[in-house]
Amino acid sequence: MSAIFPTYARWEIEVESGKGTVLKATDGKEYLDFTSGIAVCNLGHCHEAVVEAVKEQAEKLWHVSNLFHIPLQEEVAETLVQHSDGQYVFFCNSGAEANEAAIKLARKYTGKTKILTFAQSFHGRTFGSMSATGQAKIHDGYGPLLNEFQYLPYNDIQSVKKAIDDNVAAIMLEVIQGEGGVHIGDRTFIQEIEALCQEHDILLMIDEVQTGIGRTGKPFAYQHYGISPDIVTVAKGLGNGFPVGAMIGKEKLKEAFSPGSHGSTFGGNPLAMAAAKATLNTIFTDDFLTNVTTLGEYFMQQLTTIFADSSLVKEVRGKGLMIGIECTENVTEILKKLREQQVLILNAGPNVIRLLPPLTVTKAEIDLVIEKIKENYCITI
Ligand code: PLP
Repeated sequence: MSAIFPTYARWEIEVESGKGTVLKATDGKEYLDFTSGIAVCNLGHCHEAVVEAVKEQAEKLWHVSNLFHIPLQEEVAETLVQHSDGQYVFFCNSGAEANEAAIKLARKYTGKTKILTFAQSFHGRTFGSMSATGQAKIHDGYGPLLNEFQYLPYNDIQSVKKAIDDNVAAIMLEVIQGEGGVHIGDRTFIQEIEALCQEHDILLMIDEVQTGIGRTGKPFAYQHYGISPDIVTVAKGLGNGFPVGAMIGKEKLKEAFSPGSHGSTFGGNPLAMAAAKATLNTIFTDDFLTNVTTLGEYFMQQLTTIFADSSLVKEVRGKGLMIGIECTENVTEILKKLREQQVLILNAGPNVIRLLPPLTVTKAEIDLVIEKIKENYCITI
């Protein structure tokens, strides 16, 4: 009997420890983890630099509250703005909170209330971020939602044009929809959204909670599109497993978030900042990101080749080390079989296999997982 609310359908695995791509269970079995704690442990489990930074900070100072100046916050904010298009950062503890901050800031700055988001998007589980999420199953039982969100078909610019009116504060989107099925935004669609935002004085808000922090081979996935968003939200990979989120915004937004207008007790505390600093310093280097791109291209190309003639696979798509395999049938069983063979892989919706290995994964580990996927789809080449 568990004393925990049953909000999660859990796997039958109890993890004891982890190192790099490998998780060790309490029964001694070792698993290849291609989930990274759902795009969180981008540097793999217990990466030395992050472990050392957190250990060192834990002995110095954990928490003081945002009544104080926190030098580590300044350093992490500086790194985030150097690698993005924003100039100011607000720290929080999760992706939902980062999006919540973005929604509040958009309303406060523009004085408008409507936010356009997209079908199959996922932005979190708080009331604001849940209301922004374009999936009925996430809303089920919680209505009425926060009003003034409109969900539009993804990659359909005509619908966006039709939905724009004088009360639109922002357009919020993932450039690659993660939870919704690894759907990739078309370059023209994303660029036309930016143009519409500029034309109508609408804020462009990119949710990089899953795609950010090197996952796609760039610090942020929007950087593949040649756009310059007003607001970017991050979390997941930011602390490599230490809970931390951030909203990055442009200079013009600064005054709307004046003292007392928003806040978080834990947001940006020294322990979280130590983890984030070590994580960013390791990931935001040219060599590291180039390696993500190289490994991602290799992985995609191998998968595309093995499934070229498969009637079970509709499409292999992705960017960097965020890859989806859309199948013609439900993938629950194959993922269960893979778990029995000590390979951990996620789904994204019923028919999409979602691969999110640590960005430190080796080619040998990728080859092993490809072999396992091949075996389970009975492909012999
Ligand atoms: N936004 C995106 C794109 C996500 O993928 C997620 C989580 O999966 C969230 C927001 C919510 O993040 P959190 O669970 O940290 O609140």
